[in-house]
Amino acid sequence: EAMKAVLEQIEKTEETYHCYITIDKEKAMQAAKEVQEKIEAGTLTGPLAGVPVAIKDNLCTKGVVTTCASKILENFVPQYDAEAVVKLQEAGAVMIGKTNMDEFAMGSTTETSAYGVTKNPRNPEHVPGGSSGGSAAAVAADECFFALGSDTGGSIRQPASYCGVVGMKPTYGTVSRYGLVAYGSSLDQIGPLCKDVTDCATIMEIIASHDLKDSTSVERKDTDFTSALVDDVKGMRIGIPKDYFGEGLDPDVKASVLNAVEVLKAKGAIVEEFDLSLVEYAIPTYYTIAAAEASSNLERFDGVKYGYRAKDYEGLHNMYKKTRSEGFGPEVKRRIMLGSFVLSSGYYDAYYLKALRVKALIKKAFDEAFAKYDVIIGPAAPTTAPKLGSSLSDPIKMYLSDIYTISVNLAGLPGMTVPCGTDKNGLPVGMQLIGNCFEEKKLIQTAYTYE
Ligand code: GLN
Repeated sequence: EAMKAVLEQIEKTEETYHCYITIDKEKAMQAAKEVQEKIEAGTLTGPLAGVPVAIKDNLCTKGVVTTCASKILENFVPQYDAEAVVKLQEAGAVMIGKTNMDEFAMGSTTETSAYGVTKNPRNPEHVPGGSSGGSAAAVAADECFFALGSDTGGSIRQPASYCGVVGMKPTYGTVSRYGLVAYGSSLDQIGPLCKDVTDCATIMEIIASHDLKDSTSVERKDTDFTSALVDDVKGMRIGIPKDYFGEGLDPDVKASVLNAVEVLKAKGAIVEEFDLSLVEYAIPTYYTIAAAEASSNLERFDGVKYGYRAKDYEGLHNMYKKTRSEGFGPEVKRRIMLGSFVLSSGYYDAYYLKALRVKALIKKAFDEAFAKYDVIIGPAAPTTAPKLGSSLSDPIKMYLSDIYTISVNLAGLPGMTVPCGTDKNGLPVGMQLIGNCFEEKKLIQTAYTYE
């Protein structure tokens, strides 16, 4: 019934919003029936048994085309499932399809997809955010019960904010990256986009796992995230970074977030402002490191091993060149060029190594903050969702809009977005909660109490 309801909704709204790249209704209905039989036979229980889920199209799904929203992977069918997808399947969740995204997760609006734009269900003249825009929109449009996304520099938290849903990027190493097509491997994390905090904790509990197939996966004993669904913030120390509320922040966003902080204060949280001025360096640092890793990770798409190959070419090198020229979109090419440049001999020390040093300083600044505070709260993005077509012409402006989310990835911390109001046009505003490494539970408790 759950699957039927979702498929009916998709029938009504998918043509307008375009949340998905691939949907196989028959396969989804068949899988739902099989799960139903297991539930009736008593062999499958648990909170996700029969729950319809949408999966971002950079997570490998066995037998189901996985494009990363790129032409270069238009016909790539993985031989295996990503570990996070396996965990959901084991818990009985049923996949509906693969969601739209920015090409290779590079972007903030889902407009760099080679398969069309996704519209924001809260107002279809606006973008859903990105890069997990299809996942966030699918949740907001009731075209799934929850979705998986990936977050390298904000790609779960920012679309969650724009679409008015809950999203979490866990501590680096918490969810296995096995089967996630790599963008910036030292920054990438998989996480859920959901309708509320309870769903978020429930899904986190299922997808968090130690996995030997991912060498950066961490063994944690504290992944009972639903135990943090407690309505109490008495004595919780909340830090408000002044630098997150300065120039460039939309006044409606600022007012909504500060209002939410007041709610928590009234419920007994101890709130204090502090300086986090290093945040100013987060954007150049992130775009240096992410582009460097991307340029290396995307070398494998050469027309030999995966997906698309150019039709007419002369010799091997010409085949590589034509395949990559035709297969990648402009934003991906920009990142590959930037990344190759900062890693090249003569520039490596000046850019890449320097960025790694600043990354260490940013981590230190957060360590100092978490000696004083349990949770840091600020906005997830400087504005609400921009109009479709208004961001792509100016990539630097788009990069600057990641200011509040990217330092969390650089420091490996957990971050979460929770809806906290709307602007004067009725577009959702998201508040971002940031925690120390392995302290997702404090985020969940604070968010649950607010909600
Ligand atoms: N907007 C950022 C970028 O383009 C973040 C993307 C992400 O988190 N995948 O790199």
